[in-house]
Amino acid sequence: MGRLHNESAFQILARANELEAMGKNIVHLEIGQPDFKTPNNIIEAAYKAMKDGKTGYGPSPGIVPLREAIAQYCEDYKKVKTGIDEIVVTPGGKPVMFFAILMLCQKGDEVIYPDPGFPIYESVINFAGAKPIPMPLLDKNNFRVDLDRLKKDINEKTKLIIINNPCNPTGGMFSREDILAIAEMVREKDIYILSDEIYDRIFYGEQPLSIASVSGMKDKTIILDGFSKSYAMTGWRLGYGIMNLELAEQMSLLMVNSASCAATITQWAAIEALKGPQDAVTEMTAAFKERRDYLVNALNQIKGISCAMPGGAFYVFPNISSFGLSSKEFAKGLLEEAGVAAAGGTSFGSYGEGFLRISYANSLPNLKIAVERIAGFCGTVALQR
Ligand code: PLP
Repeated sequence: MGRLHNESAFQILARANELEAMGKNIVHLEIGQPDFKTPNNIIEAAYKAMKDGKTGYGPSPGIVPLREAIAQYCEDYKKVKTGIDEIVVTPGGKPVMFFAILMLCQKGDEVIYPDPGFPIYESVINFAGAKPIPMPLLDKNNFRVDLDRLKKDINEKTKLIIINNPCNPTGGMFSREDILAIAEMVREKDIYILSDEIYDRIFYGEQPLSIASVSGMKDKTIILDGFSKSYAMTGWRLGYGIMNLELAEQMSLLMVNSASCAATITQWAAIEALKGPQDAVTEMTAAFKERRDYLVNALNQIKGISCAMPGGAFYVFPNISSFGLSSKEFAKGLLEEAGVAAAGGTSFGSYGEGFLRISYANSLPNLKIAVERIAGFCGTVALQR
């Protein structure tokens, strides 16, 4: 248990809530969840499922009509052809990460994971007893993978490579060429890819390429996806993994031994999410884009901050290293003194030092208040130096 870490965004949220209870006004930019409501047609589908008595246990890998809908969706959207027996539905996308790493990795194995990246990757790699090898995603490279370094880091111990495109916490994206190059590096090797595609509907330029769609990669890839981010369904807890038949059977076994199955009502609602109108996804992405454009521009006007333009997700990852504070100190000061909750870059790995992660899943008026407060805080810190 000592090898498991916490997820700092939730700890920052807890402190922000404490300050609010003490009467402080806080702008919340710390948590990675869309500030939109789940679209109504999905909610109606959940009501209907409840009223129709779809309230019992379901099969461990997920109800068949949902797995059929996921298979169709993946073929249409990700260009990945899959059978329903290769799909395992889970309570949120997170369990796919946990199960995949537990299934594949143990002492003596190495796992290459994005840094900065979703903190649970490193935590679970350590938990499984494997060795985490960071894949640095650097500002100077627009938070893309350094292919030369990756090539050097791959060896006979490498069991799994984790990629996350678009990426949390940077909002950065791997290009199609990056994905093709990674596929080239592993195609002939005994290495799996965990492709975390949870943000793949939220992008502002070219659609991210699923590595599983690249020739020869389907059976070597575990896709992690879900409904939390695309359909504003974080609390519904529904995700899925797509993998080869053998791995899918093992993941189902882990489901039997842990959750039994994802909530049945939620699964019926998710069919509507995939098959119903997609206007809400388009509208949410358009709103995120407007906020991103505002935020990147406004942050770059603050003396001492430089902020890259992210290609996807709903995060920006500004460089705040010029202020001479660690990321954690900066985030703490910003929360306690200026009332803006954001996560220090090192909450996502040591390569996040010198950065702040801001989630722009908040309204434009609130983002404007946050920018004023950040500017004020930066001015005070600069004066004190
Ligand atoms: N992967 C990444 C990169 C995430 O940021 C998150 C959630 O923040 C997840 C997976 C897990 O999503 P879910 O809420 O579906 O478990």
